[in-house]
Parts: sequence; C-alpha cells; structure tokens
Amino acid sequence: MKPLVQFGTMQMLVERLLDGFVSAKEMLESGNTGIGTGAGVDGELIMLDGVAYQVDVQGHVNRVADDFPIAFGDVHQADFKPFKHFENITLEDLSKEILKEVGTKNYFFAVKMTGEFAAVETRAAAKSEKPYPGLGAIAKTQRIFDRNDVKGTMVGYFTPHVYEGVGVAGFHQHFLSDELDFGGHVLGATLKSVDVELQLLSGLTINLPMDNEDYKNADLTDLSTLNDVIHAAESAD
Ligand SMILES: [Zn+2]
Repeated sequence: MKPLVQFGTMQMLVERLLDGFVSAKEMLESGNTGIGTGAGVDGELIMLDGVAYQVDVQGHVNRVADDFPIAFGDVHQADFKPFKHFENITLEDLSKEILKEVGTKNYFFAVKMTGEFAAVETRAAAKSEKPYPGLGAIAKTQRIFDRNDVKGTMVGYFTPHVYEGVGVAGFHQHFLSDELDFGGHVLGATLKSVDVELQLLSGLTINLPMDNEDYKNADLTDLSTLNDVIHAAESAD
C-alpha cells in the first residue's frame, strides 16, 4: 500500500508561505491523481490520469504547463477499488456512507466519484503576489461557482483529524467537469448518478520547500489559531 504524498502544509498557507516550490511535472512524478493550489494560491488544481488542470478565479479550466509552480498539493498513484453506485444523495450523506465503509476516521484514503452531479458548488482562489496575504484574506477574494446537472469527476482525500494544520482534516475534494468548463474546490454537492471508488493509503509522506529562505526563516511555532483559520477557509460545512 502506498502513502499520500503531500507537498507543503496547510500551516504554510496560513503563515503566508505561498511560494511555488514544486512544479506540476515534479508533483506528477509521485502519482497520477491529486489536488492542490498554485503559487500565491493560484486557483484550484486537480490531477487526473497524470494530467494537471487548474480552475482559476474566473472559473476557467486550464491545462497547466509542466513548470507550473505549486504551493501545496496532495498526490498519489491511483489504484482505486469500486465501492458503490449512488443515486440522488448529498455529498454530506455520501461522506457518512464512505466513512461507514472504511470503518475508521484514522486512515488516509482517496475518494473518486465519476458520473452525473445534480448540483456542485465550488470555489476558486485568486492568485496573490508577494508580500502574500494570509489565508483568511485570500478567502475573501475567492469566487464561488455553481453548476447544475454536470458530468464530471470529484477527487480528493480524507485526512485524520490529528493532521489538521498539516493537511485539511476530514474530506478535501476538488471537481472537474467532463467538458472542462467547470470545477474547483468542492464546497458542497448533490449527486445524481455516480460511481464511487475508494483507495486506502498507508500514511503520509511530506515534502517541504528545502530551498526556500522564507520557509527556512519563518517562526512556525505558534499553533494557537491555526486550526480555526484552516477550518474557516477550507471547510465545506
Ligand atoms: Zn481545495
């Protein structure tokens, strides 16, 4: 069993460490499926079958160049197992069914849903330039997108709660439409007719920006408000 491979931490985004330190090509060397965000929180990334797409703040879907710089990302090599076909269920209820199937909140696992979605709500962040604002300020410039009756793929990860701050605890999913005209960080969804696949992951491997002076010199010892900021910016509930 393979681990989830992560580049950067959520704490880095909260602490305004938004430089890109890994390219899309380098990230895809660790797997063919994933999610993430660009340097300066430049949109929402989704990697499917070894191809990386960005949903930018305008809501446009762009295939990203090999050298596209990434500030945070999760990637793994897909080896999904079919779970179940679901019809007319909210993402919230489906998440409960998935956790029942996995049987624990203490594993990392990947989720992939393909099919027809009755409604999907997403957001995409706007790229910031240095000096970078915090995640709270970035959240205010993001845009929200809605789409009804859309075919596409939702992919993402479940992270055990003890890793909040390292990643986003709980489910963190991104969406891409089959037509490549809609997507982003998933805030909510209702599924019409969707096949759900799951893949357990053995743990977490983290790659840090070892050549970045800002990261090296940052004081990252105060964790007192970290979880609140992440929860406010990332949570779907
Ligand atoms: Zn996201």
